[in-house]
Amino acid sequence: MNKPIRALLAVVSFIISIHLILSFTHEDYGRTTSLSNIKAKLSPNTSGHSTTTYDYDDLPTSHIPSFNSSNIRKANATFVILARNSDLDGTVRSLRDIEDRFNRRFKYPYVFLNEEEFTDEYKMRVTNIASGKVEFGVIPHDHWYQPDWIDEVKATAGRQQLVNDKVIYGGSVSYRNMCRFNSGFFFRHPLLQKYKWYWRVEPEVRFHCDVKYDPFLYMEDNNKVYGFVITMYEYIKTIPTLWEHTKDFINLHPEYVAKDNSMNYISENSGASYNLCHFWSNFEIASLDFWRSKEYTEYFDYLDTKGGFYYERWGDAPVHSLGVALFAEKSKIHFFSDIGYEHNPYVHCPADDKVWLEGRCSCDQRKNFDYDGYSCMKQWDRIAD
Ligand code: GDP
Ligand code: MN
Repeated sequence: MNKPIRALLAVVSFIISIHLILSFTHEDYGRTTSLSNIKAKLSPNTSGHSTTTYDYDDLPTSHIPSFNSSNIRKANATFVILARNSDLDGTVRSLRDIEDRFNRRFKYPYVFLNEEEFTDEYKMRVTNIASGKVEFGVIPHDHWYQPDWIDEVKATAGRQQLVNDKVIYGGSVSYRNMCRFNSGFFFRHPLLQKYKWYWRVEPEVRFHCDVKYDPFLYMEDNNKVYGFVITMYEYIKTIPTLWEHTKDFINLHPEYVAKDNSMNYISENSGASYNLCHFWSNFEIASLDFWRSKEYTEYFDYLDTKGGFYYERWGDAPVHSLGVALFAEKSKIHFFSDIGYEHNPYVHCPADDKVWLEGRCSCDQRKNFDYDGYSCMKQWDRIAD
């Protein structure tokens, strides 16, 4: 062998030795340079969904338990996002947080719902961020729009009253459609039929702490049906008759009311009147089967016949909350105190310093809403163990 070839061979075998040593001693190095990994990044995305576009496992993982998401136990669960095409930027911001703080390691799917088709731009930009499968659904006409049997003269007068009273969204019909849909229809959408659990996310919300465990499995393993992070009072002007109708319904069906229910959270007087406390439903981790139950669907259908979603402005938050407080046992409701969450203007920031530190929370604990005067945490504390 002549000299230059020998020198070249020496260099090549040196590089190979270094590569092998690094591959065995440094897991991350081995992963980023493995052929299958490089191939996964280069191969075109044929599924139509961005499950292989980004390999988040290559990011620094000092704060994150590392595991291969393909062989861990997962729940039959999805994110649900109701949004308009005009909510695109806000949706992207919410997804950035939920992916960075949780889903890049768990890769749960997303279902996006809208009363009209999502644009190609919307689909492309959210698919680009999501680490799990993404599906887009159009809401059936009758699940969204004001039913024909609603007395429009009465509905117009109801809206005008709330405008005069300066109640937020008082004059909006689309807001009422949204509240009725979230109260009684989202869980009936065909794209959600295959799932048991959902996590509701809205455009323009923040997730402030790492979520290092699987909250869906927490719900499943602890026999929960409904999880919340913020609870507060509803505006009485939006639901003047809701409690009367609710009482009528439970008088018709006393057998539907859970024995160990949460009446002491929603009432100061054993049910004579409603104290307006509700779970803020823009965040929910909950069971779809609970909403699909006979008790809840009959309750919703009963309320719907009263027309209060249009004559008044019943929100999905009080309707969900009354349903879950009455028809589920109180032990089935969970306060996710460790999930840092913000929906303008309120923040739930973990009060426990250890949780705040370990979750690398970005929120200001002094702004935590839990014991704000407008919060219903004190009512929740009355019934929580
Ligand atoms: P707020 O939280 O009560 O102030 O109400 P939002 O405006 O945030 O609406 C609640 C949720 O419904 C969000 O996820 C919105 O994106 C969605 N939403 C509200 N109105 C409409 C609408 O007319 N069409 C669609 N597709 N989504 C809507
Ligand atoms: Mn909102």
